[in-house]
Amino acid sequence: MANRMLPRLDTINRPFWTGGAEGKLNIMQCRDCLGFVHPPRPVCRHCLSENVEPKAVSGAGVVDTFTINHQPWMPGMEVPFIVARVALDDAPAVFLTTNIVGCPVNEVDIGDRVRVTFLQQDDVWLPLFEKADKREKVAAK
Ligand SMILES: [Zn+2]
Repeated sequence: MANRMLPRLDTINRPFWTGGAEGKLNIMQCRDCLGFVHPPRPVCRHCLSENVEPKAVSGAGVVDTFTINHQPWMPGMEVPFIVARVALDDAPAVFLTTNIVGCPVNEVDIGDRVRVTFLQQDDVWLPLFEKADKREKVAAK
């Protein structure tokens, strides 16, 4: 999928959008209450502490909800594709709005196990997700 809208990087969101360069999914975590903060903000939304830092999480999660997009919003956009809300295993209450890639759109369902994969565009590594059992199925054949 080419021609994505890219986020404007700043000191707060840069760890999230560029962690993929090192294969890391960085989510802001409050060092005081250990709550996760996403989208990235300089202040904890749980306890208002400013002591927040990026924390690399496993990248494993589950499809919370999704929709199949058939509309090419920009020239060159390939459709259909999945827009999903992914709940992260080790960042409670964090949901990423993302795409599920690497499989036909009709093979994605709510509750599917997924794993992060990164798509680099310019200086941004977009966190996308693919089904976690994909490689295991391939390996089993
Ligand atoms: Zn906090």
